[in-house]
Order: sequence, then C-alpha cells, then structure tokens
Amino acid sequence: MIPEAHGGRLVDRVLSETERARREGERGHLPSIRPAIDQLYDLEKIAVGAYSPLEGFMDATTLDSVLETGRLPGGLPWSLPILLPVPRPEDQKVAETLRAGDDVALLDAAGGFRGVLHLEARFRFDRARVAESAYGTVDPAHPNVKELLSGPDVALAGKVESVAPRPATRGPPELTPRESRELFRSRGWSNVSAYQCRNPPHTAHEYLQRVTLEREDVDALFIHPVVGRLKAGDYRPEVIVRAYEALARGYCAPDRVVLSPFTIAMRYAGPKAALFLAIVRKNFGCSRYIVGRDQAGVGKFYDPYACHRIFDRFDVGILPLRYEEAFYCRACGSTATAKTCPHPASDRVDTSQTRIRAALASGGPIPPELLRPEVAAILREPDVLLPAADP
Ligand SMILES: [Zn+2]
Repeated sequence: MIPEAHGGRLVDRVLSETERARREGERGHLPSIRPAIDQLYDLEKIAVGAYSPLEGFMDATTLDSVLETGRLPGGLPWSLPILLPVPRPEDQKVAETLRAGDDVALLDAAGGFRGVLHLEARFRFDRARVAESAYGTVDPAHPNVKELLSGPDVALAGKVESVAPRPATRGPPELTPRESRELFRSRGWSNVSAYQCRNPPHTAHEYLQRVTLEREDVDALFIHPVVGRLKAGDYRPEVIVRAYEALARGYCAPDRVVLSPFTIAMRYAGPKAALFLAIVRKNFGCSRYIVGRDQAGVGKFYDPYACHRIFDRFDVGILPLRYEEAFYCRACGSTATAKTCPHPASDRVDTSQTRIRAALASGGPIPPELLRPEVAAILREPDVLLPAADP
C-alpha cells in the first residue's frame, strides 16, 4: 500500500502563482534574510511535504524534544533538527529587531524571493548539544559537526511558505512527493522501495537493488540520490545522476525503476540520518526502504549496523529492508553477502569507494566486478569531483 504521509497528512505550503506574485510584491516592505543554501533546500522540502508533518522550522521546544527523545512534541518519531540559523551578520541585526508574528521574506544568495517565514520565535541553541545528540560527536573532524560548531547559534522558528520548486533544466526531474505518489498510483504500484544513495553505483549497490526487485512484496524501486550540497571530494551531483541513469538504462527493467534527484544537504548522521531519510521517503509514497551497511555514515563515526538497529527502536511506518555488506566473491562468481558466501576475505573483492577511486585513478582497466563499464566511463571523465573550495 502507498503509505500515508508521516503524521497522516501530506503538507502543502507551496505558494500559488497568485499568492507568489502578491508575496513577491510585498517583499520590499518585509524584513528579509538570506539563509544558507542548505536551509533553502529545507524550505522547499517543507513546502512540498517531503518533511511532513513539519510545516516550518523548529522552535526550541521541538528541538529539545527531538534531541532528547527522537520524537516531535506530539510523540511522532523524528530524528534530526530542522533549524533556520541566520548566518550573515547583517541578517542577524535584522533578526534582532523581529518579533513573533512578523513575516520575513526568505531570499536566495542572489536576492531572489524564495518564500516567507511566519516568525514564531527567535532563539539561541547550544551547538555542541545539537552536535552531540544529532551526530553523536563534537569532533570537528566530522564535516557536519565542523560546520555546525563554527556556524551561527541563533535560529528563527515558524511556519513557512515557499515558491514552487524550479523545474530541472536537464536530466531527470526532481519529483515532489505529490508527483511521485501520483506516478506510483498511475503505474499501479503499491509497494515501492526507496533506495538512498550519494555515490555513483558500483556492483554491490546494484546487487542490493536487484535483490530488492526480486522480492515478492516490492513492485518497483525509487532511486533517490541526495544531490544537494555535498562535501568536498564527493562526486558532483550531475555525475551521480548520470551514473545512475547509465546503470538504469543498461541493466534495469525499465518499467520497474524511477530515478529522481533529491536536493537536500547530506547529513552524515549515521543511524539518525537513516531514520530521517526513511521518514522522508515514506512521504514520497514508498513503503519499503533499503538500508545497507553504514548508511549515511562518514569516517568511522558510527557502528556500521547502528543504522539497522535504530529501526527496532522507532517504527516510522516504512518497512526497512536491511542488508549486510555486499561484495563480489571470486569463488562464488557473483556478488554476495556473508549470509550466502562461505569463502574467506581473500576471495572477496573490496568494493569500497576508496578501492574504486584507486582503480579509476590508476588509468588501467576497471574490473567488471567493481563497476559497470558505462558507469566507469562516466567516472573517468575529467573534473567529476567537488573541489575543496566549492561553496
Ligand atoms: Zn563466496
């Protein structure tokens, strides 16, 4: 069954064309701030219902509840804070003059109108506490924690309204939850499994997708790569999308896979991110969710299977499909996991990103047990990684 949105109602806070024009006309009279790109992504995701039941940015009470209990004040599971900090000093001055009940125009970096915040509160938060609870560490070697600790500690709370998302100019469209649900319905799919990813697909990824598609209780796969702001050294968003397109074109039953990019900031929060990303995919209409090893982890910050166990503590209304680490085994002659392969590690091919990047960098042929040739060809193009200085 296509599940209900988290909390029972798919939020819709996208401004109609008339409202947008009215609001945009007003913006000269409204105080305005320019949030960081991550929060502009969140603004849009709240408005289209991807973060249902959230209708805006969290206040101090909601933040406390999420950090302390992993739930919203009403008791619904919710694992990560969704905050609107104010990064620019000139906007912080504006924020100090605001009062509850004020409307605030939210602008992008170029001054374009993106939405309105109906201010309910301005509050200071403890960055170290947020880091410790959400990411389980205050170690600045963690990319999200580093940004959090060096960022602003004042946030604005309140419901938002956003302009409609801009259609993609190239590549597959970024579907809204309403659009993905409508698409699933129109194809007669009841049980769609979401596939979270942030790296181009190698053979072990493909294996998890295939095994999932073989399941009797799965009608189709929703490949939903997170391609918002990533971290330095990650593959560029368009590279990730093109690699999945190549895999889908060459190796997937075309009527059982949907590929759509998902622009949000990647939160490398391990188990809490896995739960958050699952809730979000339920809002997109998926009833199943693939959780591999160390999902949404970074470095060695998380136990690789903590992302499985968190689903035992929180029932978020989507069935987690939990898979052990997959690898190619030369003795089996196939991709496998420890559940099926009896052979020692010496028979198994390491499909880690480190190994794959080393193989790509070597310039030599790429073993087909690592990458499909169509994917390898894309990853060998120049300039596929985000440089350290990318904003
Ligand atoms: Zn084996």
